[in-house]
Formats: sequence, C-alpha cells, structure tokens
Amino acid sequence: MAAYDYDLFVIGGGSGGVRAARVAASLGKRVGIAEEYRFGGTCVIRGCVPKKLLVYASQYTEHFEDAVGYGWEVGESSFDWKRLVAAKDREIARLEGLYRRGLENSGAEIVASRAELIDAHTVRLLKSGKTVTAERIVIATGGTPNPHAALPGHDLCISSNEAFDLDELPRSILIAGGGYIAVEFANIFHGLGVDTTLIYRGVEILSRFDQDMRQGLHKAMVEKGIRIILTDVINEVTRAPAGGLIAKTKEGATLAVDTVMLALGRDPNTGGLGLDAAGVETDERGAVVVDENSRTNVKNIYALGDVTNRVQLTPVAIHEAMCFIETVYKDNPTSPDYDLIPTAVFSQPEIGTVGLSEEEAAGRYPELEIYRAEFRPMKATLTGRTEKTIMKLVVDAASRKVLGAHVLGHDSGEMAQLLGIALKAGATKDVFDRTMAVHPTASEELVTMYTPSYRVKNGERV
Ligand code: NDP
Repeated sequence: MAAYDYDLFVIGGGSGGVRAARVAASLGKRVGIAEEYRFGGTCVIRGCVPKKLLVYASQYTEHFEDAVGYGWEVGESSFDWKRLVAAKDREIARLEGLYRRGLENSGAEIVASRAELIDAHTVRLLKSGKTVTAERIVIATGGTPNPHAALPGHDLCISSNEAFDLDELPRSILIAGGGYIAVEFANIFHGLGVDTTLIYRGVEILSRFDQDMRQGLHKAMVEKGIRIILTDVINEVTRAPAGGLIAKTKEGATLAVDTVMLALGRDPNTGGLGLDAAGVETDERGAVVVDENSRTNVKNIYALGDVTNRVQLTPVAIHEAMCFIETVYKDNPTSPDYDLIPTAVFSQPEIGTVGLSEEEAAGRYPELEIYRAEFRPMKATLTGRTEKTIMKLVVDAASRKVLGAHVLGHDSGEMAQLLGIALKAGATKDVFDRTMAVHPTASEELVTMYTPSYRVKNGERV
C-alpha cells in the first residue's frame, strides 16, 4: 500500500499549478489538484486573457476613425458593455474547460475545494472536511490585488478583479498606479469611451521600463485624451452625495468620478493556507520563500508562480513548473532561467521589450551605443494620426552585444517575442545589421539603424 494518498498534491489551479499537475500525472504520478474558484487562475479568469479581449474591444474606436482615411464611410457606431462581458465570459468558460480537460486527460484528480496545509504531508479539503496526504506538495496559489487597506475608502474602490465584470461601464474612472495594470486599464477604459485619469506617485509611469518607452507612451496617452497625474497619490475616497465617488489627493486635488480603481501591485496569496502549521517560511510580503529549484525550507514542499513573488508573469510560472518536473520527476535538476524575459505592456500603443533599459545598462557597462528611431507608422500616413513608433537598441560598445531592445508601437508585443530569441542567442549588433529587412514593415527599422544615435560613456550621454 502506498504511504501517501498522492505522489503530488497541488494547491492552486492557475498557470503554474495546472502545468505541474498535468505533466506529473502524464508521467504516471498519482496527482490531486485543488482549486477553490475556477481553473485557469488569474491569467485566464481575470488577467491576461480577458484583458487582451478588452484591449481589442477598446481599439475599435480608433479603427472606425482610421477607416475614413482609407476611403471607408463608417456609419453610426455604438458599444454594448454587457454584450462584450458576456462574450468574454463565454471565451473564458471555454478556456477553463480546456484546462479541466487537460488535467482529466492526464489522469490528475480535480478537487473543487479550498485546500489548506495541516502539516508537511497533509492537506485539509475544506469543502468535504476530508484530509489527504501527499509525498510532495506544490503551492501555486498565485496573487491577489493589493487592497491598499491603509487608504481611507479603499473598500469603495475596485481592483482589476472587478474591472472585468462591472455591471455598467462607468462614465469616468480614476486609476491609481503606474504599473502594467494601471496603464493597460487606463487605455482600455479610455478606448471604450470612459473619461479616464491615471494617478501615479512617481515622476513617470512604468518605473522599471526604458525612459523612451515611458515618456513616449505617456505622450501618446495624453494625446489620446487620458489625464495623467504624476508625483501624487490618493489620500482618501468618499461617496459623493449625488452618487459616484470623491477622491482627494495628497497634493490637494479633488476628483469626482464614478469609479476608482486601485492597481498598486499584487500580493502573494498565502493567507490562511496553513503554511505555519507545515513550517513553510514566508518573507515580509507573505511570499513563499523558495530556493533555485522552487523548493521551500520544508523539503517535500515546493512553490511556483506569483505566490513566490519572483517574476509575476504567466510564462514564468509555467517555466517554473516545467523546471520543477525536470528536477523532481526526471532526475534533471533545472533552475528557472530569469535572464532576458521578453514582456509586453498592452497599452495603446503597446510596449514590447526585452533586456536592459538604457538606464540599467548605463549603470553596468562603461560604454554603450544607443540606436534609436522615432517615426510615424505607415498606417498613420493616410489616417492623419500623429502617433509615433519608437524603436531602440541598447548595445555594449565593447562586445557589440545587444543588451536591450525596446519598441513602442503597434504589435510590439509580437516583436518582443522574436527579439527575445535574438537576444537570448546573444546576438550582436552586427548580426542585426546582417539580417535582411522585411519591407515594408515597422520592425525593419530594427535591422536598419546602422549609426548610433548617441553613446553613453560612464553613465553620461555623449
Ligand atoms: P506593478 O508592480 O506593475 O505596478 C504597481 C504600481 O503601483 C507601481 O506603479 C507602483 O509604484 C505603484 N504602487 C505600489 N505601491 C504603492 C503605494 N503604496 N502607493 C502608490 N503607488 C503604489 O503591479 P500591477 O498591479 O500593475 O501588476 C502586477 C503584476 O502583474 C506586474 O508586476 C506584472 O508582472 C503582472 N502583469 C503583467 C502584465 C503583462 O505582462 N502585460 C499585465 C498585467 C499584470 P512604483 O513603480 O513607484 O513602485
């Protein structure tokens, strides 16, 4: 008789947990996976996927306007938020079904319940009250929006969780934060016709991105009509007597809006998980502490994805799950590789980026060559739109290696994926120069910037 009910029990049915459970089960392991809400996790249910669908929806205003420049007459248009939400929900339900079927087909047992640790090998399933045991346990419970509990009136605000399913589209919204979620939702709501203001504590949005991307996107957003307030924060949110909300800021501004959305980072989802009972160590933010093989201080317990607060991205959680499988079930110790992670901000225009920003590279390399192009995308020539595409390569002058590639413009998320391959392969600027252009495209600029726009020596632009 087996000593444990399962070889592997996974808590959390998001990107990382589902991948670990599915692959382990397909290798013949006896696997259980518990999820208290819906399979697919943040990414599928209330993150990346529905977000991208809303991005598409919000772009139609500009498509209709642009069509005129290309000879089209577009009649009266109208937008139905409820219809969009229903269509989005159907797609999410379809994807959730695929996640479930993938698990079932691999032989993993699905447990629709919250699960909490009782000790290092025992899990309590809250729905049935049953306890089960497992040789190994994976914690993959993800993250949750930071509620900013210190803010008076935070309970009147929404987070990205609610933004996807609002009963009505607000007429006006104030979004707090300057990261991925704040910026993406500011563009979504604006595109859907909502009067949108973003408030951020720093001097420029998207603090961890290249300066050109940050400034270029800021300018584009303001030109579209999004209000951006910098170096200020909301101090208090109250209900307005006539309906809606009043937000007061530290710098003394008073904003009356229908909705306030907080996008101030995401916290690891570890509350009430029984980590103390099992002896699993967490850090000051509540994240599960793991080693380079995603193993916690309790040797049979592992943690993957956002709950570990390493890099909060879906493909990273999936990669960590695959490394876990290699390490634990294939006798091939593999550490996740966090170097050169390509990423995109689905703002409008998008940012696609991989590698070091100019500012980061300037702190690490004595001399850089910066190749930079700013131009009007071809499509805009007939539409009259004044938008700009910005492309930038950050190159180490000594080795000629491309350290960072940054694009602000249409489809730059798609470009970032391919640039990621080039940078991962260690491509030098000479390889970019030798690569034939695809004409006419925007991305051909990436292989035709032959002369440095400027150099950076010892951190100074020369
Ligand atoms: P981010 O970490 O991107 O941004 C958080 C923002 O909140 C920052 O601007 C930060 O400011 C600000 N902030 C944090 N605390 C406070 C505070 N107390 N008062 C005022 N401002 C504050 O988090 P998001 O919530 O936008 O997204 C969470 C994660 O989800 C991201 O890190 C990302 O990895 C992932 N994600 C990825 C997407 C993608 O790949 N396209 C899309 C959406 C999310 P400061 O910069 O000054 O610290």
